[in-house]
Amino acid sequence: MSYDYDDQNIFAKILRGEIPNTTVLETEHSLAFQDITPQAPTHVLVIPKGAYVSFDHFALEASEAEIVDYVRAIGSVAKICGVDLGEGGGFRLISNAGQDGVQEVPHLHVHVLGGRNLGRMLAKA
Ligand code: 5GP
Repeated sequence: MSYDYDDQNIFAKILRGEIPNTTVLETEHSLAFQDITPQAPTHVLVIPKGAYVSFDHFALEASEAEIVDYVRAIGSVAKICGVDLGEGGGFRLISNAGQDGVQEVPHLHVHVLGGRNLGRMLAKA
């Protein structure tokens, strides 16, 4: 299995500084920024800096340092946004992948959503 990464995707452009973003957190291997169309009071996207299409791609090919950095960055974003269970009311992580996951941007991202009750996980089809 090989993953084709399109380096013209919008998050690759954000990583190269070609498109502005509102950064929440930057670490050695990860970047977190506000979603341009927020669907909750907290809606932050966390991406690895490496060229990974999706979560499964990242899980297969990322280094342990990248994986640890990314997981910790996601937890830090929840804390920075005040939705972590230490201080806040909780949150939801979503990572859409591929066609059935209805992934719009083909660079791995985890949505960190919170700040209100988010309702049930999926609407009935
Ligand atoms: P997906 O559907 O791929 O899981 O989510 C892509 C997300 O990227 C959407 O929530 C969308 O609002 C966000 N998005 C798309 N283009 C941009 C952009 O140029 N800047 C930012 N900050 N978010 C974007």
